[in-house]
Amino acid sequence: MLDSFNRNVDYLRISVTDRCNLRCSYCMPDGIKKVTHEKIMRNEEIVDLVKQAAAIGIKKIRITGGEPMVRKGIITLVEDISNVDGIEEVTMTSNGLLLKGQIKELKDAGLQRVNLSLDTMDEAKYKLLTKSKTMLDYRGVIEELISNNMTPVKLNVVLMKGINDDEVESFIQLADEYDLLIRFIELMPIGHLKFKWEEHYLPADDIIEKYPLILDSKGKNTIYYKTEGKRGEIGFINPISHKFCADCNRIRLTSDGKIKPCLHSDDEINVKGLSLDEVKSALRRSIKEKPSSHHIDEEDYEEISRTMNRIGG
Ligand code: SAM
Repeated sequence: MLDSFNRNVDYLRISVTDRCNLRCSYCMPDGIKKVTHEKIMRNEEIVDLVKQAAAIGIKKIRITGGEPMVRKGIITLVEDISNVDGIEEVTMTSNGLLLKGQIKELKDAGLQRVNLSLDTMDEAKYKLLTKSKTMLDYRGVIEELISNNMTPVKLNVVLMKGINDDEVESFIQLADEYDLLIRFIELMPIGHLKFKWEEHYLPADDIIEKYPLILDSKGKNTIYYKTEGKRGEIGFINPISHKFCADCNRIRLTSDGKIKPCLHSDDEINVKGLSLDEVKSALRRSIKEKPSSHHIDEEDYEEISRTMNRIGG
């Protein structure tokens, strides 16, 4: 369905939980209040909503969170969503910790690809940033995805000055080793956290100019580069330094049943507890009301109040 600015909105990101098995300081630090179970969208409510969404032109679904793999019955939910008429693609964004050993089952349920989030390959840094007691076996997860033909494997790395900007070269090597699409994402100011955005934000151009990257292609939200003689691609998602709102084709469903027309706005439309017709018109309204762009780059921008785990990245 076209929004008021002629963008074809065909992509819905569904946050299936606000809960996560990590506590990344820039996303969901310790102490954040959890949404109570009765407020969370039930499987049937999510699938019913996807049917209404498909009826108005949504074709692609990304399952996210929180950490989607901590939701009980996630594989059945993936399967039910994949079986909705009109849904052509179901993908997931995950921190990977619970993926090992489940990838084939997810694939059989209809999941096409996984974007793996990994900000550092340094074990000590990983544990500090995520508060995890164990390091992700990212090689094991990548290898399992590749052996199940869930390719290209995309690895998302949030770029943070003073935290992981010294690892760019190592990620370029990892891209070559496994023929990955590594995407460096600019840190966004979200959720009024103690983690200071201003201290850690790093514009992508500061990295691009330091490495011998050769421009390859420009997608809707990612600019891809290659490196001479190496496999894989290095992408940059720059929502702040080069905003791509003019190409934005997505809306989001939060785990507590709100549709967010724009990630960077507090505007949301409730869909929980509504009839199917009401859900469909709420979805239409959210597409019609999608703003032309975010306003992070404006002086009087007010950071949104939901933290990222409660929106779904
Ligand atoms: N738990 C899953 C994961 O780790 O991929 C899915 C949810 S997580 C919110 C989705 C993505 O959002 C992760 O790649 C995470 O790094 C990213 N993210 C969270 N907060 C962010 C922020 N302030 N700026 C940029 N990316 C952020």
